[in-house]
Amino acid sequence: MEQNKQKARRSYLGAALGLYCPRCREGKLFQKPLSLNLKEITQMNKCCSECGQPTEIEVGFYYGTSYVSYMLTVAISVASAIAWWVIVGFSINDNRFVYWIVFNAFLLILMQPWMMRLARSFWLSWFVKYDPQWRETKPVNVNERVNNDQGNNW
Ligand SMILES: [Zn+2]
Repeated sequence: MEQNKQKARRSYLGAALGLYCPRCREGKLFQKPLSLNLKEITQMNKCCSECGQPTEIEVGFYYGTSYVSYMLTVAISVASAIAWWVIVGFSINDNRFVYWIVFNAFLLILMQPWMMRLARSFWLSWFVKYDPQWRETKPVNVNERVNNDQGNNW
């Protein structure tokens, strides 16, 4: 019996950052590895391959990820500003601040595919909690809350 309640192999952050299903922390959320193919970046598995947790639990569920993306963008910008300040420095007598703006813009564009996935992973993890008994129990039925015609529409 004790074995059924075994601890998760991944921590909450490990699962969210690694893009794993928040319910079992075992199954992958996305179908393909990260690439520059813009169509594939947000293609998610319909359900978790390990525990069956649906990845879309409401119509327009991932609409809210724009807020998460925004928070990630601010966090990355602050981190890059601090790094720039330490390594290059800021001054009102030259253009180093402008160079940072340009550098940061390119950095954010480069990180965008990864941030889109990370935002979805975090967003889902705030609505689907880890279930230590995921092998025995079924995920919450969301059939009444989703509309297949509107799936992944965002
Ligand atoms: Zn799962």
